[in-house]
Amino acid sequence: MVVYDGRSVSEGIAIGRIYVYSKRERTVQCSETADPAAELARYAEAREKAVAELQVLYDKALKEAGEDAAKIFQAHQFMVDDDDFIESVEELINTDNVNAEYAVATTGENFANMFAEMEEEYFRGRAADVKDISERLINILSGAGSGGITAEEPVIVVADDLAPSETVQMDKEKILSFVTVRGSANSHTSILAKTMGVPAIIGCSLPLTEEVNGKLAVVDGFEGRVYVEPDEEVLAAKRKLLKAEEERKSLLESLKGRDNVTLDGRRIDIFANIGNTKDLDLVMKNDAGGIGLFRSEFIYLGSDHFPTEEEQFAVYKKVAQALSGKKVVIRTLDIGADKQADYFELPKEDNPALGMRAIRICLTRPEVFKTQLRAILRASAFGNVSIMFPMIISVAEVRQIKAIVEEVKRELDAEGLAYDKNIELGIMIETPAAVMVADDLAEEVGFFSVGTNDLTQYTLAIDRQNQTLEAFYDAHHPAILRMLRMVAEAAHRHGAWAGICGELGADLTLTKEFLAMGYDELSVSPSKVLPLRKAVLETRVEE
Ligand code: PEP
Ligand code: MG
Repeated sequence: MVVYDGRSVSEGIAIGRIYVYSKRERTVQCSETADPAAELARYAEAREKAVAELQVLYDKALKEAGEDAAKIFQAHQFMVDDDDFIESVEELINTDNVNAEYAVATTGENFANMFAEMEEEYFRGRAADVKDISERLINILSGAGSGGITAEEPVIVVADDLAPSETVQMDKEKILSFVTVRGSANSHTSILAKTMGVPAIIGCSLPLTEEVNGKLAVVDGFEGRVYVEPDEEVLAAKRKLLKAEEERKSLLESLKGRDNVTLDGRRIDIFANIGNTKDLDLVMKNDAGGIGLFRSEFIYLGSDHFPTEEEQFAVYKKVAQALSGKKVVIRTLDIGADKQADYFELPKEDNPALGMRAIRICLTRPEVFKTQLRAILRASAFGNVSIMFPMIISVAEVRQIKAIVEEVKRELDAEGLAYDKNIELGIMIETPAAVMVADDLAEEVGFFSVGTNDLTQYTLAIDRQNQTLEAFYDAHHPAILRMLRMVAEAAHRHGAWAGICGELGADLTLTKEFLAMGYDELSVSPSKVLPLRKAVLETRVEE
C-alpha cells in the first residue's frame, strides 16, 4: 500500500481502479501564411463553432450537474469572444503572418501564464480555462476531436490537471472520483465533483505512470488521501465508511426538502447542533431546518485569550447568514466543569460539575458576558437569531440576564448599531430545579430547550464523564421522561415553544414519545437529522 496526500475539494469515499487520463499531446506547428485574410476568416469561423460547441456542453452540464457546473461554459463563450484575446490572435496573424492555430496557441499560452502568476487563487484557477478554450479553438482549426474515458467500469480518474470541457465530456457513469496533481480549489472540476457528489483531491503527487494505471485504490475525500493498493484493514474500514455515506445519500435523496410530518399530521422542527462554522456544511448537506444549539463555548476553547467582540461577531454573523433566515439558536458561553480554558483562571474545585460553570460565570463576570451578548445581538441583524442561556436554576437568574440584555441593547442603540429588537430569548432546561419551576420560567422566555445530557447527570446524580458508572446510567429513566413531559406542558401553558437539544433528542426509540409530549423541535447532530426525519415520517402519534 502506498499513501498519497493532497487537498480535498469534494468529500466522499471512492473505491475502484485508477484510470490515468492523459491529454492527447499535440504540438502546434508554426507555418507562414501568404493569405492572412484567409487565416482571419478561419479564426472567425472557428470562434463561431466553438461558441456553438460550448452551448452544447452548457446544456449537457446543466442537465447532468446543475447550474453551478454549467456556468463555466457560458464563461468560456465570453472568453472565446474576449476582445483582448481576439486582438492578440489577429495581431499575430497580421503582423507575423502565422497560421491561425499557432496564433491561438501562443495567445492562449501567454494569457494562461498571466493568470497562473496572479496572487489570488481564483484567478490562478482561470489559467486552466484559458488553456481549455485555446485547445478547443485549435481542435476546431485542425479538425481534431476531443477525448473521453475508455474504461469498461467506473474508475478513479487521475490526471495532471483537468479542463472543464474534459470533465464534462467524460461519461459521468464512469467516474468514481477525480484526483489531480495540479488544479485549484476553485476549478470547475472541483465544482463538478461536488455537484456529482464524488470525492476529489487536488495537489496530489500520485505518479501518472502506466504502472499505477489500473491499480486498486481508495480515495478518501474526507482526509484528502489516496491509498494505492490498500491493505485489507484500510479497505475494510473504507468500505464501511462508503456504505454509511451511501446510506446517507440515498436517505437524503428520498427525504430532502420533505417536511417533518407524521402519518397523522403532527409536524416538528428538526434542527442541528453545531460547535463551529466548519459544521455549517454538514447542516446544509443534511437538510437541517435550522440550528437548535450553537455551542458558542468552542470559540472560547479554541482561543488563547478572551475572544473579542469582533472575533465573535464575525463567527455569529457567518452562521446567521449561512442559514439565510432559518432559525439559529446561539447558546451563550457554557464553560466550566469538563470544558476548561486556562485564561479564565477558574479556581480548582472539588465538584466542578456542581461548581462555577456556564451562566454562573457569565453573571459573575458581566464584562465577559456583555462582550458576547453584544456580538450575538449585532449578528442578529444578519439572520434569524435566538439567544439561549445554559444551566439555569431560577427565575431570578433569568430576570438578571434579561436586565443585562436590555442594558446591552441600550448601549447598541446609543452607538447606532443594528440588531434584531425582538430577538427571541430562551433557556436550557438542564437542572431538576428548572424543571420544577418550569411554569414560572416559561413566563419569562420564548422557549425552552432541554439539555438531556446535563439533566440526566443532575437528576440521576451520575457524572456524565465517569465511565465506571455506565451500568447505572439509564437514559430512559422514568424520572427523565416525566420531566420531559412536564417541561413541554409548562412551556405550552405559557405560550413558549419547547425543544430538546441533548443527545436523547436523536434517540429514535423515543421519537414517538417526544411527539406525543408535544415537543416543537428536536435539535440533533447533523448526521442524525435525516434518520430522525425518516422516523417522524413513519410515525403515527395517536397509536
Ligand atoms: C446538554 O446538557 O444536554 C446539552 C445539550 O449541553 P452540553 O452537552 O453542551 O452540556
Ligand atoms: Mg449541558
